[in-house]
Amino acid sequence: MSNNFIKEILITLINKILDSYENIKYPFRAVMIKANYCYCCDKNNNETFFLRENSFSGNFKNNSWIYCKDCEIYVNLANKYYYNNTKYIQYDKSNLLENFNYSFYRVSSNVTVKPYIQKKCYFNFRNGDYIKEYFNRVSVLISWKSYNELCKNIPLSNLIFYNRQIFGYKFNKFPLKDLPIKWHKLIINEYNISNEWYILHLILNKKTYFPKEILNIIFRFWNDLYQF
Ligand SMILES: [Zn+2]
Repeated sequence: MSNNFIKEILITLINKILDSYENIKYPFRAVMIKANYCYCCDKNNNETFFLRENSFSGNFKNNSWIYCKDCEIYVNLANKYYYNNTKYIQYDKSNLLENFNYSFYRVSSNVTVKPYIQKKCYFNFRNGDYIKEYFNRVSVLISWKSYNELCKNIPLSNLIFYNRQIFGYKFNKFPLKDLPIKWHKLIINEYNISNEWYILHLILNKKTYFPKEILNIIFRFWNDLYQF
């Protein structure tokens, strides 16, 4: 075989791999889909498989990959790299958060309700992805029971500050492990913010000349700076 011939075969093969991978890189909303059809190689196939996105959209909106046996390799590859760049942490890496009860500093949208510490909070997957990126900050979706169940996106720093028994003071104590690398910097920043509050809190609670009410106002102001 001539070198040119081999080169041509290789180029065709690589193009085919890249095309298939491009087709399958992202999951899509699997509604009104063709039966017996592989969305990776764009061919009819009697045997197709279904893999849900590992997220709220995967579970409740059917975001998925649909593929044939030949394309499985591309889906496995896509599944491995896809979550490195998503705006949320995949469910099976964040579901450990369901094991705890939380408190957080709640500023209600209802202005007649004074800010207060909401206790007995938890994570409920039905309300959405637990941890999301939000303009270079980390937002967590916390739920609690009032008359009905309520939920709210709050900065992770807020949750860290009021739940040190779970989160500790440093990133190496963060309960979720093996996170995609981009989350490390974001989460460390949340620790830094909550540690600034901690220092401020310590200073304000030391004997000072300020009356308690004024100290509370200062702390509240500092806290509010980091609300979304
Ligand atoms: Zn296929």
